Parts: sequence; C-alpha cells; structure tokens
Amino acid sequence: MMERVEERELFRVTDLKEYIYCPRAFFYEACLPDLHRETVKTDAGRRAHERERQLARRRSLAAYGLEAGERFFDVPVRSDELRMVGEIDEVLRVEGELIPVDYKNTDRLGYNFQMQLTAYGLMLAETAGQEVRRGFFFIIPARRAEELVFSARLVRSVKHALSDMYRIVETEAMPEPTRYRMRCATCKYRRFCNDV
Ligand code: SF4
Repeated sequence: MMERVEERELFRVTDLKEYIYCPRAFFYEACLPDLHRETVKTDAGRRAHERERQLARRRSLAAYGLEAGERFFDVPVRSDELRMVGEIDEVLRVEGELIPVDYKNTDRLGYNFQMQLTAYGLMLAETAGQEVRRGFFFIIPARRAEELVFSARLVRSVKHALSDMYRIVETEAMPEPTRYRMRCATCKYRRFCNDV
C-alpha cells in the first residue's frame, strides 16, 4: 500500500481527467493499474495532438487575439501544493503575463476541460512564482482559440478533486459509480463494474 502511494506521489493531469470522467475509473487506474487498457479513440486524439504541436509553431499570436509576446512549447510544470506535475502544450508570455494554452481535438469544452486547464494554470503559477489568471484552449478542428478565466469556483473544483483523489489512493476505497450512467456504455472498465 505505502509503496503504491509513494509511486503515485505526484498526479498528472490525465489522472485528474480520469477522475472527472468517473472517480471509480480513476480508482481502477490508480489502485489496479494492471486493468488499464488504452482505447482507439485515445490513440486518434493523441495523433491529432502531436500534429498540432508541429503546426502550432507556424501560428502567430494573432490566433489568440494578441499582438506581441513570446511563445514556449512543451513547458514542464509542477505544483508541490497540488502534488501534481504536467507539461503544458504552449505558454504565452505577453507583457509579463503568463498564459497556458491547451490544445483540444474537440470544440465541446465542458467543465472537465476547464478544470484541466485550470490545473495547468495553478501549476504554472507555482512553477513561475507569479499569478496566472487565464488560459486558452486551442480548438484543433475549428483552428481557433478560446479564452478561459480561472475563476475561484474552478480553482476550488480542482483542489477538491485532487484532495479526493488522494483519499481514494490512500484508502484504496472503491468510489460509487458515476452519476452519468451513459458514460458506462463506452467505458473501458465496464466489465469490472457489476453494479451499473
Ligand atoms: S463502468 Fe461506469 S461506473 Fe464503472 S468505471 Fe466506467 S464509468 Fe465508472
């Protein structure tokens, strides 16, 4: 148990993503990693993401409605407060302000994606030692950027989720199934959940 906790001492944004999808799916991933199976959809998303990393270098800041500044790619970040590490697709520095950019292969930017970008913002703030108050999604299919302001509600949601993720790993207690049962139909862990 302790060994497993130490191995997973630092979470990644993909862990947060899994938790938001379903806390129980996160439990399977974190506490029973041998069950993990990648899906075709995940691979397709990853390929689009990789292509975008190459295309992004040709874009100008005008894509973000900004005129001048610097751009950094694949920026590693870490937060000891959140006990989380990650790598941000792109970071803009405009007049001293740091702005994380997350590339997304969809135009449906739900609260789950907003929490992920907020987590990147919190990690960037701690890594750089300065306030980070907003970020951008770059929507790959539409080739456009959308701003997200990191509200107090989003920050609270991220911190609450991480605190619950640690409780799950430390206690190895299986959470209740997701309330959104339509997710179960296509879930990679469906055959392990006998109560849905
Ligand atoms: S089958 Fe449903 S409850 Fe079970 S892990 Fe998947 S989404 Fe969660």
